[in-house]
Amino acid sequence: MIAPLLISYISASILVTLFAIGRRISFAGAFFTSLVMSPIVGLITVLKTEKNIHIKHYSTRYVCPECNIEYTQQKQCCDFCKEMGKEIDLKPTRVLIYE
Ligand SMILES: [Zn+2]
Repeated sequence: MIAPLLISYISASILVTLFAIGRRISFAGAFFTSLVMSPIVGLITVLKTEKNIHIKHYSTRYVCPECNIEYTQQKQCCDFCKEMGKEIDLKPTRVLIYE
């Protein structure tokens, strides 16, 4: 008779672990907190942790106007187009990077 209870208890712990997505707590941390301290305590712990910080910043990319290949480093001309026999000058482009 204990098996269904155990299964629902572990399922609840796994469910709590899913709330840890995008938060500053590890899956293992969330799972074991739920398992040891009960899923309710686990859920409160997970919800009290801060959400992940998303950093945005601008970066310069060098884009080939011919084939649209992006280079992170400054180059004299596009490698791909150079192989095709064309010397295409790369133009620096400022792009927004999400981390
Ligand atoms: Zn190119």
